Amino acid sequence: MLIDYPEFVDRANSIVTAMAAAARQAGRVAAEIELLPVTKTHPAAAAEYVARYGLLGVGENRVQESAEKRGQTTGAARSLRWELIGHLQTNKAKLAAQHFDRIQSVDRDKLIQHLGRAATELDKVLPILLQINAGQDPAKFGAELEDAPRLLEAALAQKYLRVDGLMTIAPLGATSAETSAHAERTFANLRMLRDDLTRRYHTPLTTLSMGMSGDFGLAIAAGSTLVRVGTALFGARGTPVAL
Ligand SMILES: *Cc1c(COP(=O)(O)O)cnc(C)c1O
Repeated sequence: MLIDYPEFVDRANSIVTAMAAAARQAGRVAAEIELLPVTKTHPAAAAEYVARYGLLGVGENRVQESAEKRGQTTGAARSLRWELIGHLQTNKAKLAAQHFDRIQSVDRDKLIQHLGRAATELDKVLPILLQINAGQDPAKFGAELEDAPRLLEAALAQKYLRVDGLMTIAPLGATSAETSAHAERTFANLRMLRDDLTRRYHTPLTTLSMGMSGDFGLAIAAGSTLVRVGTALFGARGTPVAL
């Protein structure tokens, strides 16, 4: 069951406030950090809340689920930006290129080739982020840090792909202190990689998609421009719980 709209507004307001505080503390401008609500597993109404509140996009982790949901939305939610944040199989590349406004989970050369071909056929410039396993977590998807330059070169060579930046997911630790330490290291790695690639390839890579419900403050401190928040906005997936 989805929480009601007033509760969504309360949750969104506290996240926006916490994001602004984290930005201020880091000497950054809050306006340069976007909140991307993650609506995966939630009904189309969740995306309608997002649009009504005035946010611009949603994150989804499955191609089919997202396409169906978008088809069910009405009004302002129809013009949201739909972004894929979950792992993408090459056999779904074409559908994903068709459906999504941006794909954040581009993590291997073969996928770049498939997406490039699909975007060319659709005559659509497809914005992407390169997903990097910046926390060197064996359980996570994402290209290894050292493979990032090669991957960026492959993506830049595709006329119909536009590389907006980089994305990462921080690994979990056994304790919360360990989790925080992993997250800080992961976000710092992604930030350094971005700065390095920007210099080497003279390409802006303005979007740094990092930070989720549990670690967006640390991500903002490290330079995140886009935080992907699900649980803190909508409650636990499956059963919403109070914050
Ligand atoms: C589910 C998901 C999120 C949101 O996670 P929460 O902890 O619920 O905020 C963010 N990023 C990715 C890639 C996800 O799959």
